[in-house]
Amino acid sequence: MRLKLKWARFFTLAGWNWTLASPAAEFDVIVPIPCGHSECDSSHVLAVSICDMPLDVLVRKCAELYDRQKSYESPHPAFFGDGPQNTRWEMAHGAGGGTESVSQWMGE
Ligand SMILES: [Zn+2]
Repeated sequence: MRLKLKWARFFTLAGWNWTLASPAAEFDVIVPIPCGHSECDSSHVLAVSICDMPLDVLVRKCAELYDRQKSYESPHPAFFGDGPQNTRWEMAHGAGGGTESVSQWMGE
């Protein structure tokens, strides 16, 4: 529960207008992340499951639960662990896309 609160605080501070998923959903929160790329709409929407697990486990879980096509449909299934590098989802972005993490979306 504490990890979910930390992520909720992160989303709020980042200005990502998150909402709780319904109790019946297989994920925890819906999070639109702003995107200014000219080939994208103004945001990408993630269906985030928050799990306190190492990245390799999150990656394996994502691959087991969602096929490639589902991963690229919005909202994109995403797994968030204990920090920005420990996050994973896939989506189209700009002229490409692929594997993404929060650390890639925090600016440099
Ligand atoms: Zn984009």
